[in-house]
Amino acid sequence: MKVFMVDVAKCSGCYNCQIACKDEHCENDWAPYAAPQPHSGQFWCQMNQKEHGQIPKVRVEYWPIFGGQNPAIADYAPEVLMDREDGLQVIMPEKAKGRRDIAEKFAGVYFNEELDIPQACTGCAHLVDEGKLPHCVDLCATGALRFGEREEFTDEIEKAETLCADGEGIPRVYYLNRPHLFIAGDVWDPVDNEIVEGAEVVLTMPNGEIRKTETDDFGDFYFYRIDEGTYDIAIKAEGFKSIERKGFELSESLNLGDFPLERV
Ligand code: SF4
Ligand code: SF4
Repeated sequence: MKVFMVDVAKCSGCYNCQIACKDEHCENDWAPYAAPQPHSGQFWCQMNQKEHGQIPKVRVEYWPIFGGQNPAIADYAPEVLMDREDGLQVIMPEKAKGRRDIAEKFAGVYFNEELDIPQACTGCAHLVDEGKLPHCVDLCATGALRFGEREEFTDEIEKAETLCADGEGIPRVYYLNRPHLFIAGDVWDPVDNEIVEGAEVVLTMPNGEIRKTETDDFGDFYFYRIDEGTYDIAIKAEGFKSIERKGFELSESLNLGDFPLERV
C-alpha cells in the first residue's frame, strides 16, 4: 500500500507542494484518473498553517492535507473509486458524475460545477503508474514529503500521527513531528540585568510526569510537544532562590514571560 509521510519539522511552509499540484493538474486531463483541476477554488494539496505562542516566542506550524486520500471515502462511496492494488484512492470522473454529496461530506474534496464531478487528490496515480513520484512529493525541496510503500516506513509510522478518526480505515497519510503545544519563558537576574543561563526548569505534566530542561544562552526555555491541561513549573539556579508557578492552564501554546530570580 502506498503512503505519504509528512515530516512537519522539515516543512518550511513554502507552498511548493500546493503549487506543484496546480502545475500537474490544471489544464491537464489525466483520464481516466482525473479531469482538469480548476485554477481557483480547489486545493487537492491543501496547505494549513497555525501560529503558536506569543511575541517574541512564536512558532509557525505548516502541514499539507490530501483530502482525496481520506480512507473514509472508501466506506462512503466505494463505487466511485478506481480499483487499485497499490491502495491509492482515486475518485474516477466517469464514475462520480453528479456526486456532489461526496464533496459536501469530505474536507479536501471539491465539486466541479462545470464538469459535474467531485475532485480531489488522486495521489498522482497517473505518474505512479509510470514509476514516478507524485508531483508534490517530487517538488518538495526540504524532504518534508515522502512517498512509498507502507513497509518502507514501518518504524516511522509507529511514531506518526494521522488525521483519520478511529475506525475510518487504514490511513495513507502520516505526520511526523507535529509540535502540538509548547510552554516557554525566560529567566533573568534583575540585579545584574542579565539573563540566567543554565537554570534548571522542571515541568510537571497533568499526569504527574516530570520533564526537565535548562535555560539556553538567551535565558530562554521551551517545552515542546505537550497538550492541553494543568501544569506546574519550577525554576532553580545556583545563587538564586527557587521559584515556581503552579496550576496554570494550557489551552494554546504559552509564553509564560519573564521569571526574575531573587539572589540568596
Ligand atoms: S513543498 Fe514541502 S516544505 Fe514546502 S510546504 Fe510543501 S511539504 Fe512543506
Ligand atoms: S499527489 Fe498529486 S494530486 Fe495529490 S496533492 Fe500531490 S500533486 Fe496533487
